[in-house]
Amino acid sequence: MILDNGAEVIIGFEVHVELKTATKLFCPCPTAFGAAPNTSICPVCLGHPGVLPALNQGAVHLAVRAALALGCRINLLSRFDRKNYFYADLPKGYQISQFDHPLAERGAVALPGTSRQVRIRRIHIEEEAGKLNHEGENLWTAQSSLVDFNRAGIPLIEIVSEPDMRSPEDGRLYLHSLIRTLAYLDVSDLRMEEGSLRCDANISLKPADFEGDLEDIPRVELKNLNSIRSVVRGLEYEIERQAALLDAGRPVMRETRGFDDASGTTLSQRSKEAANDYRYFPEPDLPPLMLEAAWVDGVRDALPMLPDAWAARMAEYGVRAQDAEVLVSDPALVRFTDAVHAQGAPFPEAVSWILGDVARLQNAHHLPYGEGPLTAPRLARLLALVQDGRLSGRMAKEVLEAMYDNDQDPDVIVETRGLRQVSDVQALTAIVERVIAENAKVAEDFRTGKEKALAYLVGQVMKATRGQAEPAVANRLLRERLTGGGSQ
Ligand SMILES: [Zn+2]
Repeated sequence: MILDNGAEVIIGFEVHVELKTATKLFCPCPTAFGAAPNTSICPVCLGHPGVLPALNQGAVHLAVRAALALGCRINLLSRFDRKNYFYADLPKGYQISQFDHPLAERGAVALPGTSRQVRIRRIHIEEEAGKLNHEGENLWTAQSSLVDFNRAGIPLIEIVSEPDMRSPEDGRLYLHSLIRTLAYLDVSDLRMEEGSLRCDANISLKPADFEGDLEDIPRVELKNLNSIRSVVRGLEYEIERQAALLDAGRPVMRETRGFDDASGTTLSQRSKEAANDYRYFPEPDLPPLMLEAAWVDGVRDALPMLPDAWAARMAEYGVRAQDAEVLVSDPALVRFTDAVHAQGAPFPEAVSWILGDVARLQNAHHLPYGEGPLTAPRLARLLALVQDGRLSGRMAKEVLEAMYDNDQDPDVIVETRGLRQVSDVQALTAIVERVIAENAKVAEDFRTGKEKALAYLVGQVMKATRGQAEPAVANRLLRERLTGGGSQ
């Protein structure tokens, strides 16, 4: 995105993803969200003197899984460091993180609908700080803050992108794609509104005449972005704010700014620290993290099929790109569709039913895909009955609805309701001839060019067969009779 003044928008993200482990990163405290304040705590996560951290292996496993799915190289040797700073939510006075030997490096996230990708610089493991609850409207007007240490020590990964995004829309696509991939891995709850996934955005404007290192341009770090929409709005506001400063010949300060959802603006929080302000030093209580190549290979082999691969597979089977895009946005949806296909239903038909009536009914019954009365084998059987010509589309819809009400197999419903499509030409021909005789005026209208009259006659045939005629066959037979046959 190039602005009117020729400046180019440069955006990079740091995304924090809480890992879905049962216990914290260095102690056995539970991680469940929503516990009463300061009940999931112990001397280790409160940083009492003399306690020793013990690394949670499950967290390492989830972190490696995420890093591999994002195409990163895993460093078989990584280290933990102390990031020192003072803040009320940090009882130890430092956060255990990884500084110059991160867990993983050099991955990428494809931007959907474009041929571009955003490179990932690094992924490292670190622990959460506690949570401050501000007593008041917002951070700036709060009279006091309460500290909850339940979150302190929960494992997370920080995914640092290269500054490869060029517009707020790129940012939206990146987050969408990143969250979608992580959703297939079951490594995190990924709830931005609960804070289990947080995005800090670095944004700067590169003046048209700037030559040199992007790192030298003063950039603003945006925080307090609690939804993808907030990320986009915050970036849009910052672009306008920084462009106005540049146009006025004033410098953009390197600082951290918070996004205020209510006003849609950003407010200065503090001047931005450089890495050396944190006085990182190696964590003396933890040995280096050493992984075996064979173990990493095992984690890689156990990765599920990821959304880009699913989309490619759907395309091979003739599913339209926009439908595939909707399907792969939800792992449960794509797995259900695949299960229906595995039961013998053609992909495009299965997709058209699933994104239509099935989606409507699952939502109406508040059911995730694959749960409830509509199992993959039942839907596949229903589609086979349509395919064989035994049920019309309308009848199939009736059977589908009945499956939700009665929790029965489609064959049972067809049998009990006596549903059977009349596509037998001889049986239908007699009915068609009778309908033409009884509606001579309408038939004449059609012969003199009123195309609409045919629809009325088809309706009469459907009525005469109590909806059991196949409309396409009725239509063809009527047309043949009215035009003296041979209409192709
Ligand atoms: Zn603890």
